[in-house]
Amino acid sequence: MVTTNIMVVYTATHSTRGGIQRTFLLAILICFILGIAVGWVVSATAPKDVQTSAAAWFKAFGDIFVRLIRIVIPPLIFFTIAAATSSIANARRLGMILVWMLILYIGTSALAAVWGILAGQLFAPGVGVGLQPPKDYKPPTPPSGIDILMSFFQTDFNALLAVGGAMSMIIFAIILGVGVTLLGDEGRKVAYYLSLGSKTLIQFVRMIMYYAPIAIFAYAAWLMISYGPVMLGAYGKFLVAQYSFTLFHFFVIYSIIVWLGGLNPIKYFKAQFTPFVVAFTTRSSAVTLPVNMDAARRMGVPEEVFQVTVPIGATVNMDGTALYQALSAIFIAQLFGIPLAPYQISLLVLAAVVGSVATAAIPGGGTIMLAYVLAVVGLPLEGIGIMLVVDPIADALRTAVNASGDNACSVLISRLLGYKLNPQI
Ligand code: ASP
Repeated sequence: MVTTNIMVVYTATHSTRGGIQRTFLLAILICFILGIAVGWVVSATAPKDVQTSAAAWFKAFGDIFVRLIRIVIPPLIFFTIAAATSSIANARRLGMILVWMLILYIGTSALAAVWGILAGQLFAPGVGVGLQPPKDYKPPTPPSGIDILMSFFQTDFNALLAVGGAMSMIIFAIILGVGVTLLGDEGRKVAYYLSLGSKTLIQFVRMIMYYAPIAIFAYAAWLMISYGPVMLGAYGKFLVAQYSFTLFHFFVIYSIIVWLGGLNPIKYFKAQFTPFVVAFTTRSSAVTLPVNMDAARRMGVPEEVFQVTVPIGATVNMDGTALYQALSAIFIAQLFGIPLAPYQISLLVLAAVVGSVATAAIPGGGTIMLAYVLAVVGLPLEGIGIMLVVDPIADALRTAVNASGDNACSVLISRLLGYKLNPQI
């Protein structure tokens, strides 16, 4: 009875959404292009003080959206993962989802780190540039391996409610979900309320999403005014290296993965468009999570799979970040004229995978964790200050690809578990 009710609500809300989705997609695209155009015009024609104040206003309108979504992220992660794990009665199936997820998430991130190293060698963006770190910059203390491990296990429940506590929240939700399953019949009632909670929060997000096109417009304009000149300047080569290899990973590697998963890559890219643009402009995988789950649903990934893989992926699977961190390390070594031995380069792949897993799904998280990667390879931490200059532009694409990787892997995981996809695109 309970299951039937859920199904009725689910089908009713979803049958009316095709048209809305298309309009929404168009609105996002138009607002993104408009934002870039307005930002470009302002940065090319307005006096400096007008530019500064316009950029601050645009950023504020984007930040409203990000703040609204950030509030809902901890409960959303809790309810979706706990609901999903408690509804998978078959523990073996849950185990298989988790095992395939880890293999694919780590495998694709390692591959991305290799692309980062190749991009660094091929484009040699830092060779002969001779940049100096900013004068007032103090290098941060990088976290140790133990620090990173222990950050997954917080001491207070409060810490789980911060976006930075997402990993601890995931662990908590999985254990709780398994506990609910083990309760048997009584547990089924709890599972029902967990699932209702998850649906309510998703509805909350859907309402906020009506504001997304405005936020996307505002962020695109802000990025263009604040960072447009940087793209054409000294960091251009780094960005060309990063963007070309990251886009290669997105278009080629994800096409292969979804094709292996039995989904036409065109359908994948179509469904992934909205999360891509939302991630690109908000620069946060956590903020993109709700739209990414919606895209997974439209690709036909079963709820049982995406409710586990996508929220966990938002926190741990960051191919764009792994590529960026590996490339940045090579770039910094080149800037300071430090040659890297082959063993340091292999270590870099490992460090970039761990660094990307430990990166918080927030704007600039990857550059903060770059301190860990540089420390492992033995490179000067002053490099962080240098990378901060281009961070927002570098962050935009790496976040878009971070989010897209979760859905590509979810498609393949579904196939590996024997599901047949039923895409709604
Ligand atoms: N902003 C990225 C994300 O949320 C993390 C990073 O800075 O690399 O996925």
